[in-house]
Amino acid sequence: MATSSTGRETREFRADLRQLLDLITHSLYSNREIFLRELISNASDALDKLRFEALTHPELREDGDELQIRLLPDKEAGTLTVSDNGIGMSREGIADDLGTIARSGTAAFLEALKQSDDAQRPELIGQFGVGFYSAFMVAEEITVRSRRAGEKEGVQWVSRGQGEFSLETIEKEKTGTDVILKLREDALEFLEPYRLRELVRKYSDFIEHPIVMATEKEVDGEKKVEDEVLNSRKAIWLRSPSEVSKEDYAEFYKQIARDFKDPLETIHFSAEGVIEFKALLYIPEAPPWEQLFGENKNGLHLYIQRVFIMDDCQDLLPEYLRFVRGVVDSSDLPLNVSRELLQENPLAAKIRKNLTGKVLKTLADMKKNDRPRYERFFKRMGAVLKEGIARDFERRDELAELLLFESTATKAGEYTTLEDYVSRMPADQEAIWYLIGEERAVLENAPFVEAFRSKGQEVLLLTDPIDEFLVHSLPSYKDKPLRAVDREKVEEEEIPELIEESYRPLLDRLKELLDEEVSEVRLSTRLRESASCLVSPEGALGSHMERLMQRLGREDELPVTKRILELNPEHPAVQSLRAIHERDGKDPRVESFGRLLLDEAMLTEGSRPKDPVALARRINDLLVAASETTSSSSASKSPAGSMGTRGSKKPKTSESSKKSKAPKASEEKE
Ligand code: ADP
Ligand code: MG
Repeated sequence: MATSSTGRETREFRADLRQLLDLITHSLYSNREIFLRELISNASDALDKLRFEALTHPELREDGDELQIRLLPDKEAGTLTVSDNGIGMSREGIADDLGTIARSGTAAFLEALKQSDDAQRPELIGQFGVGFYSAFMVAEEITVRSRRAGEKEGVQWVSRGQGEFSLETIEKEKTGTDVILKLREDALEFLEPYRLRELVRKYSDFIEHPIVMATEKEVDGEKKVEDEVLNSRKAIWLRSPSEVSKEDYAEFYKQIARDFKDPLETIHFSAEGVIEFKALLYIPEAPPWEQLFGENKNGLHLYIQRVFIMDDCQDLLPEYLRFVRGVVDSSDLPLNVSRELLQENPLAAKIRKNLTGKVLKTLADMKKNDRPRYERFFKRMGAVLKEGIARDFERRDELAELLLFESTATKAGEYTTLEDYVSRMPADQEAIWYLIGEERAVLENAPFVEAFRSKGQEVLLLTDPIDEFLVHSLPSYKDKPLRAVDREKVEEEEIPELIEESYRPLLDRLKELLDEEVSEVRLSTRLRESASCLVSPEGALGSHMERLMQRLGREDELPVTKRILELNPEHPAVQSLRAIHERDGKDPRVESFGRLLLDEAMLTEGSRPKDPVALARRINDLLVAASETTSSSSASKSPAGSMGTRGSKKPKTSESSKKSKAPKASEEKE
């Protein structure tokens, strides 16, 4: 190799590097702006190295200038220079540093690149730290001028990225490195100060060293050139929590979460030992708005050694903690980590485990020490914790402790915990009872709840759409099973045989008449004030789920499970139906009243009767019959016919009910 007086020589890149350069420049066009992040990151590293070495060799910082990174766009020359006054490179070092592929995970990158198709490539490079070479995406030629701290001679490295580079010895006044990009025709946008500002803010805002650009300003008609610092330099997660004020935390939160409210809770810590990272996490006051629209393209910001890697890193927290915002800065993860690689990376899994534990612990502490604040959190974001119960088997018990429920023992809008519920359980209570539905008011008065209330047992009133899934994934809490009060069997109370027998013919008849709607008609031991209720077979979907699916117009997808109609043998309405049936098994009122009891059961549980018009008709007929009975002092059976479901008398009903008002009024006068 020819060596001139300046020691000029030309060398070849290694074969695999040529391949990489080729791939980078040709296939990653749309993400090429990341070159600036890479160059700034290198410069920042060089500054860190110098600062570190100067601790023991102060003479290395020859001029004592502030450590900084400088951007110099030169429109006339068509060049963008990224300079630093850091450690610099020596002639021996530079060929290695800028000529070897083992750097920066480039080998892994190359591998991934080869396996990806064209569409994936831009995605890929955004996630990889491809390092110095990425600058060839925007530059037709790169000149690196560098002088290592402590050395007298500088070195110049020039390459067009075509497979070879030249080296020569140069004079360089200051230590450090200038990377001069001769921009390609199609990359001149990177000469625009606004574009550079934008990119620094996007990718390098938290670089600790100042990134400076000289900008021309007009002050009082005079042109002045002033240095402008482009990055905010606020890597507050790297500071010690004692040095950061509440306001700083809040401001940073607002910036990364694009929220205008202060966070509900801040979690700032660093993990040391097997894995090392710093985390600054926030629990927001309300769930991020994107999540309200079903979108979940967000997550933590991941930095690796202060270099921004990605801003919606979803792999560092389980999905059910998706409301958490914040930053994780790892010193162990490789810079070339991609989304795909992160999923498989065991270190990432460890970080995730650690972060999850920390968030849950913080919530547990908040619940214990500041219950009103915790309730505020739970009202808005508790539903996703319930999702966690279904998804994160390992943490199920931990998550169960975080749940809050309304119950028959709490006032509306107030909560109890499973722990408190269990502590109130009478010794003979076998299960944690619950009832699922839309509204507390309906649940509270539902017939199913009566027996429990009268026995002094509490029932959880679940009104969250996800509760149906929750109870399927949480079969028990502290060995107490969770059971629905509207299911087939709730307790072992027996109905006396005599009573059972007296009702048998009616029950059989009703089963015949209501065969399409119910699977069984039987007597109930759970009802106190109500006449009837509908219960589901154990393990079947509850009525709440049916209503949900109906509302979504998806009831067709539901398995058809008929429910059981239970009648309260002690209720006067049920008793009189038995009497009617005893007197005349063919009396049409048996069907009519039977259907009324069925509809009543639907209404009290919060469902819609199958045929509301028919229900209204039956009620009206009943009103007419009642008024006729009271007005003609004898208990005549005459209106029985009008109780039929066949509605040929429909138009008359309203007339006769008008008529019925007169006798009623006269009755009141009596
Ligand atoms: P990485 O930064 O991951 O090592 P790069 O391709 O970005 O990979 O850089 C390769 C190497 O070149 C760096 O490790 C460093 O030794 C050297 N280098 C690059 N830029 C500079 C710079 N501005 N100052 C000093 N050394 C540098
Ligand atoms: Mg680098």
